[in-house]
Amino acid sequence: MAVPKSRWSKARSRRARAQYKVKAPALATCPQCKAQKLPHHVCKQCGYYKGREVVSAQDA
Ligand SMILES: [Zn+2]
Repeated sequence: MAVPKSRWSKARSRRARAQYKVKAPALATCPQCKAQKLPHHVCKQCGYYKGREVVSAQDA
């Protein structure tokens, strides 16, 4: 396994870590009930995905 030749300075580590940011999650609108939902996920409100009900709305 490759081993680093020298350690990163405190400033370099801190500069690199300063770039880590929290990003707001991407949201899509459900075509069935118009609620906000995560893209590529079953809608939590109506249980629909790809135009059909895949899970019932109460246990979704
Ligand atoms: Zn929906």
